[in-house]
Amino acid sequence: MSKLEKFEVDCLVIGGGVSGIAIARELSSKFDNIFLIERNNQIAQETSSRNSEVIHAGMYYDQGSLKSKLCLKGKELLYDYLKERKIEFNRCGKYIVSTSDKESEKLNTVYENGMACGVDDLTYDDSLKSKYPFLRYNESIFSPSTGIFDSHSFIHSLSRDFQSQGGNILLGNETLDVTQSKNGFEILVEDKNTNHKFLVISKVLVNSAGLNAVHIANLINDANNYEEEYVKGEYYTYQGKEKLGSLIYPTPTENSLGLHATIDLGKGIRFGPSAFVVDEIDYSLSKDQKLNFVEAVQTYWPGIKEEDLTPGYSGIRPKLKGIKDFVVDSGGVSNAQYVNILGYASPGLTSSLALAIEVSNRIDI
Ligand SMILES: Cc1cc2nc3c(=O)[nH]c(=O)nc-3n(C[C@H](O)[C@H](O)[C@H](O)COP(=O)(O)OP(=O)(O)OC[C@H]3O[C@@H](n4cnc5c(N)ncnc54)[C@H](O)[C@@H]3O)c2cc1C
Repeated sequence: MSKLEKFEVDCLVIGGGVSGIAIARELSSKFDNIFLIERNNQIAQETSSRNSEVIHAGMYYDQGSLKSKLCLKGKELLYDYLKERKIEFNRCGKYIVSTSDKESEKLNTVYENGMACGVDDLTYDDSLKSKYPFLRYNESIFSPSTGIFDSHSFIHSLSRDFQSQGGNILLGNETLDVTQSKNGFEILVEDKNTNHKFLVISKVLVNSAGLNAVHIANLINDANNYEEEYVKGEYYTYQGKEKLGSLIYPTPTENSLGLHATIDLGKGIRFGPSAFVVDEIDYSLSKDQKLNFVEAVQTYWPGIKEEDLTPGYSGIRPKLKGIKDFVVDSGGVSNAQYVNILGYASPGLTSSLALAIEVSNRIDI
C-alpha cells in the first residue's frame, strides 16, 4: 500500500445513489475539498433507479423512528425542491385497501399510527367503489399527500448542485478497502476503467454505498458486525383499458408496503414491487415468482390475469438483518469521523434531503 499515490481530501462520500449525492451536496457547504466516488460509470444506476418513485406520506413507520422522522421532513423538503426546480411530480394521493377482516384491523393500525405520527390528512374513504368498480376490497383509507415524481431528474439536479458548489465526482472508481491511519481514513480506490489503484486520505468518510454499505461499514470499524439482508422486488407493467388517477396499495406486509398498483407520470399502470429474500444481486425477473405476483394483485384487482402483465424491472432492498429502521451510524476514530448509512431501503428517496441534514448535523469538524 505504501507505494501507491496518495491524495488528501477533507471529506469523501462513497456511493453515487440518492443518499450519497444528497449528503455530498449538503456537506459541500462545510468542506472545500470534497469528493464523491461511484463505482459505476454513471450515477444512480442501482437502487436509486430501481424503485416506485413514490413520495411517501409517512404513515407506516414507528412513531419516533428515524424512518418516520426523515420521511415526514424529507417529504416536505422534496415537494419544495421539486417545485422550486420545476421537476415533474404529481401529488396524486393513494388509497390503501383491506381485503379481509384481518387486513381491516391492520389498516386501522396504519391509520392510527399515521395520525399519531403527524400524517393528519388520512381519511377513511369509500369512493373507490364508484371510481374503480374493477377493484375488490373491504375498507380503504386515502392519503392525499402521497405523490409520484421524476426521481431521475431530481438526482441529477442534486448532482449539479453539488458540483456547482465545488464538489467533485469520480465515476468508475471503486472503494476496495478502508483502514485507519494517524492522518485519518486511508481509502484504497481502483479506477475500474484503467485498473489504476490509489489512496485517498480523508478526515471525514461517509459510507452511502447502498447494497454494499454493510461490507464497507465492517471495514471502517473492525468491531462492527452488521449483517445484511437483500429483499428483492419485481415490477410488471399493465396495458389494459382501465386508468387510475391515484395509487392503490394493499395493506402492508412485514418486508414491504405491499405489491401496489402505481401510475407513472405518463399515467401508465405498473404493479410491484413483490418482496422475497435473495442471496445475490441479480436484477433479472424470476419466472418462478410470477404466479405469486399475479395472485397478490388479484386479491384487490381480481380481473387481472397472468397474460395481462408484461415483465418490467426489479430492485433490491438493502435491509439490515433484524432491524426495521434506517441506521445512521456515526462516530469518531482517533482524529477522524465516519458516518455509515445502513438499511436505507424505502422510503429512502422521499427521505433523502432530510437524511443529508441529519448526517451534516452529526459531523462537527
Ligand atoms: C423495489 C424498491 C422500491 C422502492 N420504492 C421507493 C419509493 O417508491 N419511494 C421511496 O422513497 N423509496 C423507495 N425505495 C427506496 C429507495 O430506492 C432507496 O432507499 C434509495 O434509492 C437508496 O439509495 P442509496 O443511494 O442509499 O443506494 P444506491 O442507489 O444503491 O446507491 C449506492 C451507490 O453506491 C455505489 N457503490 C457501492 N459500492 C461501492 C464501492 N465499493 N465504491 C464506490 N461506489 C460504490 C453503487 O454503485 C451505487 O451507485 C425503494 C427501494 C426498492 C428496492
